[in-house]
Amino acid sequence: MRKYTILGIIILTTVLPIILTLFFFNDEAYTFLWSLLFIPGFLIIITYPKRIIVFMTIIGYIGLEIVIQYYFLDLGDTRALQVKVLIMNPIVNAIILFAMAYYRIKVKKMTDKLHDLVVHDSLTGIYNRRYFDLFLESTVSDYVKSGKSFQLLFFDIDHFKMINDQYGHPCGDHVLIELTKAINNQIRGSDTFFRIGGEEFAIFLPETTSKTAEIVANRLLRLIAETPFEYKNIRIQVTISVGLAEYSGGEIAKLIDRADSALYKAKTNGRNQVVAVES
Ligand code: GH3
Ligand code: MG
Ligand code: MG
Repeated sequence: MRKYTILGIIILTTVLPIILTLFFFNDEAYTFLWSLLFIPGFLIIITYPKRIIVFMTIIGYIGLEIVIQYYFLDLGDTRALQVKVLIMNPIVNAIILFAMAYYRIKVKKMTDKLHDLVVHDSLTGIYNRRYFDLFLESTVSDYVKSGKSFQLLFFDIDHFKMINDQYGHPCGDHVLIELTKAINNQIRGSDTFFRIGGEEFAIFLPETTSKTAEIVANRLLRLIAETPFEYKNIRIQVTISVGLAEYSGGEIAKLIDRADSALYKAKTNGRNQVVAVES
């Protein structure tokens, strides 16, 4: 909706000054026309800060300016004045637009980078807890509307404290990084993987039945149990415990509670296993 509103404003602010100048103000107001045409120019650059779009916008802007000035406006009698208007005006306008686009693209790159830092975990590179909360909130509202369900998988590394105590914190970090990579290689592109705590993770599985989710969970469980993690010639064997919950309506907090209690059950039942809760 917002996209179409901006598009509408861009089209309106492009067409309106041309009509105004050509039909109502005629030749005396060409500067007025080009000042007004800055509005769609600015809007396009601000809304779509991409090099190619900026380039096309400025070319289009200058082309329009030259064509209209040349064919429709009286540029004065002297050739010098004609050249000045036809060449200098578009050049100055293009410089203004390019300068603005340069800073807009720079700011966009910076905000993208900041967004990346805010939503990713610095150790493993996957999404963090903050993004997990945001993601679930917006996803759940989409799912409520469509009436579809999804699966939420929680897992926690078993006795991870022992790895830190036995081999040191850097070794623990190494295991977290390698384990994340191993899981990331196994899940689908449409699944979303989060580190929601120290050694606690979540995977969002869309378009998945509870049966498939259990198969996936068991596959991940086996993968981790069978992957030896190596750190400075030490081979470390780890296992995980998995809790699964299906979302088919209701509050997110309840879904998280259910996935949490499933994980808790997997822990108390002896770890290295999958527990699913019925929805
Ligand atoms: P359980 O099987 O019950 O989950 O036992 P556990 O030892 O894994 O659980 P516990 O909650 O007692 O310990 C979690 C440990 O994870 C403690 C903490 O030092 C460690 N940890 C949390 N974040 C990090 C991290 O970023 N790096 C490292 N190396 N360790 C971490
Ligand atoms: Mg643990
Ligand atoms: Mg834990």
